Amino acid sequence: MKNDSLVPVQLWEGDNKNLVEKTIAFLQLNFCINKSIDNFSECYCNNCRKLKSFSHSSVLWLKPQKSYSVDLIEQIFEKIQFNLDKDQKFFFVLEKAHLLTAATANKILKILEEPPVGYNFILLTNNIKIILPTIKSRSLIKQFPKAEFEIDFEEYPLLKYFIEKQKLNDPITFESDLKKLELNETDSLEILNILFNYFSKKQILCDKNETKEYALNVVNFIKKQILIPPQSGSSNLFWKNVYLNFPQK
Ligand SMILES: [Zn+2]
Repeated sequence: MKNDSLVPVQLWEGDNKNLVEKTIAFLQLNFCINKSIDNFSECYCNNCRKLKSFSHSSVLWLKPQKSYSVDLIEQIFEKIQFNLDKDQKFFFVLEKAHLLTAATANKILKILEEPPVGYNFILLTNNIKIILPTIKSRSLIKQFPKAEFEIDFEEYPLLKYFIEKQKLNDPITFESDLKKLELNETDSLEILNILFNYFSKKQILCDKNETKEYALNVVNFIKKQILIPPQSGSSNLFWKNVYLNFPQK
């Protein structure tokens, strides 16, 4: 990890929550005051505390909403006008870099090609395939594979309703979450696929017969849903039906 820190543009792929943790640990490696520490998650020195709360003055952490806006990207340009002192380091973290639009990605290409001395970029994504090739070619790519059953609930908030048992009895919160998410047909298929993979693995890997049987029920149920996916504009209705008819344990 120490050598990698010399590469100024890095593109990390994995699930968002894991990447955020990895990024904080990586930044701690650069900024922690406590030289003797083995486990950074236990360090609460002044710098580590600020890094963990995303408030360190040498890090600009960008978290896009639905996609990267020009205003958000503009913060990078405002910062890099200033030369850093010798040996000073500054990090830009671009969370969910797959949400860079063509316009915003093109805007930062030049700086990614040759970042001013001391400036570093860490781009995080859950899907490297949809990152512009021009960005990929400028980056050191690192992949953090998902743990077997790990689901990124932050990235896909709807999943918790189907995976956490008790959530199947909360239709009101479900409906209000569903409204906020504004899912389209592509999102819906992606979520169905994640559910399908999750329960398929569970069915194969779990030892308990009861769990296996339930997982198989769910797999069959989801197969049916994938065959009749939502049409344009009908995703909310589709998910309400899935929720109501989802197999109960
Ligand atoms: Zn520390």
